[in-house]
Amino acid sequence: MMSIYPWQTYEWQRFMEMQQQDRMPHAILLCGPEGIGLNQFAQTVAMQMLCLSKNEETNSACGICQSCQLYIAGSHPDLNIIEPEEAGKQLKIAQVRELIEYVTLKSFSGKLKIAIIEPADAMNRATANALLKTLEEPPSQSMLFLLSHRPSKLPITIRSRCQRIDFKPSYDQTAAEWLDQEFADANFSADLLLRLAGGGPLKAKVLLEDEQLAFRHTLIKDLRRIAKKNCDPVQIAAHWHTLGLENTLNWLMKIILDLIRLKLLRERANLINLDLKEDLQDLVNSLDLLALVKNYDFVLLKYQQSTGPMNYNPLSILEEIVLHWNNPEIAK
Ligand SMILES: [Zn+2]
Repeated sequence: MMSIYPWQTYEWQRFMEMQQQDRMPHAILLCGPEGIGLNQFAQTVAMQMLCLSKNEETNSACGICQSCQLYIAGSHPDLNIIEPEEAGKQLKIAQVRELIEYVTLKSFSGKLKIAIIEPADAMNRATANALLKTLEEPPSQSMLFLLSHRPSKLPITIRSRCQRIDFKPSYDQTAAEWLDQEFADANFSADLLLRLAGGGPLKAKVLLEDEQLAFRHTLIKDLRRIAKKNCDPVQIAAHWHTLGLENTLNWLMKIILDLIRLKLLRERANLINLDLKEDLQDLVNSLDLLALVKNYDFVLLKYQQSTGPMNYNPLSILEEIVLHWNNPEIAK
């Protein structure tokens, strides 16, 4: 049975209030860090809204009516979810057009038609424009959920037509207890995992499964080898590439920030990679602050480029970063 995650009760409450006061908007933009569980939240709300006999006390979905049965079977005709055909790619304009047609049709239950777009920032300008009219003049029985970890990438015209609900990063006891129950790991405490996952508890699972946490070691070791000019930059870039451009850039930024913190605050530094303090300390001794700041700016710039609308070659971005590490003076 679909339910919200324990750290989502505040946002759930807001939905229940909106419903009770009969002021549910037609389009809602759900935002929050990766791994906060936006999809499951939207789906739980969808199931609740479609349920034909809600629980009188909790107002949640009953789980047994015809609508809930269809929902659980994954075949509710009044719910439509679109996502890119390939992870990380754009949504096609045809997908959005189909979705628009779908919400305009009469609903099966006579109640409501719900659509979920995830991630909404996978719409390019033309696709977003196609959706705009539906957001401006929504069909009366329609309800659109737009999900995004990077809402700033959405056109302002889209953002301004949705009611926005922001999920804050979750570092608290509720999330830590959930993590301990779900993915206890002897090597990493729940607090450390949440910190490394940027406050997205589900992201912690991905970090553990993909061996990304071990990858941080590799990155730090490689940075030391680069600083000592004791390696082939092309080979290092090629290895980083196997772990994905976005991952590599994300971890590099976190590592460089930790190095800057160590440089400035030493023992008082509040590190993200708390478990790697010794390795970071080793590395930081051979680096100067200005070079670190310039390298951070450079990686951030490359991150923005790589997530922007232009197509860059991931491997050459990584090669540029490796070459830049010892020569932060070179022009961007
Ligand atoms: Zn039901």
